[in-house]
Amino acid sequence: MAFESLSDRLNKALKNITGQGKLTEKNMNDMLKEVRMSLLEADVNYEVVKNFIADVKEKAMGQEVMESLNPGQMVVKIVHDEIQELLGSEDAQLNFKKQGITTLMMVGLQGTGKTTASAKIAKYCTKKMKRRVLLVACDVVRPAAIQQLQTLGQDIDVDVFTMGADVDAVTTAEEAMKYAQDRQKDLVIFDTAGRLHIDEALMQELSDMKASIQPDNIVLTVDAMSGQDIITVARDFNEKLGITGLIVTKLDGDARGGGLLSVRSITNVPVLFVSNGEKMDDLEAFHPDRMADRILGMGDVMTLVEQAQDKLDMEVEQKTAERMMAGVFTFNDLLSQYGQIKKMGSIQNMMKMIPGLNKMVKNVDDDKLNSEMKRNEAIIQSMTPYERDHPKVLKASRKNRIAKGSGVKVADVNKLIKQLEQMQSMTKMMSGGRMPNMGAFQNM
Ligand code: GDP
Repeated sequence: MAFESLSDRLNKALKNITGQGKLTEKNMNDMLKEVRMSLLEADVNYEVVKNFIADVKEKAMGQEVMESLNPGQMVVKIVHDEIQELLGSEDAQLNFKKQGITTLMMVGLQGTGKTTASAKIAKYCTKKMKRRVLLVACDVVRPAAIQQLQTLGQDIDVDVFTMGADVDAVTTAEEAMKYAQDRQKDLVIFDTAGRLHIDEALMQELSDMKASIQPDNIVLTVDAMSGQDIITVARDFNEKLGITGLIVTKLDGDARGGGLLSVRSITNVPVLFVSNGEKMDDLEAFHPDRMADRILGMGDVMTLVEQAQDKLDMEVEQKTAERMMAGVFTFNDLLSQYGQIKKMGSIQNMMKMIPGLNKMVKNVDDDKLNSEMKRNEAIIQSMTPYERDHPKVLKASRKNRIAKGSGVKVADVNKLIKQLEQMQSMTKMMSGGRMPNMGAFQNM
C-alpha cells in the first residue's frame, strides 16, 4: 500500500514535537528537515516539497502557534491541512449533465488500468448513482481490449457496445451514442485506445474522438507505481486533450505515493478516484481530507463505514449487533462474522483505516489470518447446530469428534473455544459504538 513509509516517517517527525510544551526554532527546524526528507523519499516532486515546507514553516512559526498551549498539536494540524491542500482543497466529482446523456471518455497509457477502471466506474455509477450506463469499446488497437470490456460488462451487468476491431473508434463512438439514445441510457463511458508511450497517432485519434463526441468528462488513468512519471503523462494529456480528472490506479501496490501527492498541485487536474485492487469494487471516490488523515496515520473511518455499508449484509450485521448488545455471541455468530470479513477483502486494508490499529498493520499477515479463519470455519462446521449455540457442552469426546471431522488437533479446537469465551466476555462488557467485525479478530 502506498504511503506506508511516508506515513511512518511523518509520524516520527511530528511525534518529536507533539509532546513539547514550548516549541523552539531549533526543534521546529529539526522537524521540518525530517518532514522534508520523508516527502522527498516518498518521491514527491522537489518543487512541491520546497513550497510545502516553506508554507508549513511560515504558518508554524506564527505567533499564534508558538505561544499556544499545545503548539505541537497545532503544527500537526498545519501539516495535515497542507497535505490536504496538495491533494486538492475540495472533493472533485464527475460532471453530470442535468438532462440527457452524460459522456465520459477514458484515456490513458496501456497497462495503467484504463479498461478495468472504465468498468469500475460503470459499476460505481450504476450502483451508487442509479445511472443507466453504457460502456463502449473504442480501444480497437489492443487485440484483447474489446473482449476484456465485454467480460467485465457481463460481470457487473452493464451493457457493452462494440462494432469489432475493424471499425474505427470515431464511428463506433457515434453509433454508440445512437444506441444509447434508443435505450435511454444516461451515462456513456468510452474506453479508448492506449499506447505504451504518448505518440502522435494516439493523440490524433483521441482528439478526433473528442471533436466528435464532445465529452462532458475526459478522465485519465495514471499508475501510482510509475511515480513522478504521473506528472509528465498528466501534463502531456492535459495540454493536448484537456482532461477533467484523474484516476490514480494500483495504490494497493508498494508505490511510494509521491506522484499522487504532487500531480494535483503541478497540473491542477483533480483526482476523482483511486483504485486499489483488481476487483470491480476496488475503487474509491477520492477525498483529500480523508487521504490526508490516512497519510498521517489518523485512519479513515468514514471510508471504512461506507465500504462496510456497500459490501456487507447489513441485516446480518444488525442481528449480530443486537445479539452482542444482549451479551450473546455464539459460534454461529462467529461464523457469520467470518463471512462478512471475507466480503470486506483484505484485513490489512481495513485495519489501515482504523485509528490506532493502522500502526499494527505491519504485524498482520493477511495470508496467515485467512488460513486461520478457514481452519476455524472448518472446526465450527464440524459442530452440530446445538453445539454451536451451546459451546458449554463441548467436552472431551465431542472435541475429539470435531477435531477429526475438521482435520485439526484437539488443541486447535480448545484454542477456538477459548477465543469464543474471550469474545463473549468482551461482548458482555461492550455497550455500543462497536466497529463492524472487530470481535472476530480477537486473538487470531
Ligand atoms: P489498460 O491497458 O490501461 O486498459 O489496462 P487494464 O485495465 O487492462 O489493466 C492492466 C492490468 O492492471 C490488469 O491486469 C488489471 O487487472 C490491473 N489493474 C488495474 N487496476 C489495478 C489496481 O488498482 N490494482 C492492481 N493491483 N491492479 C490493477
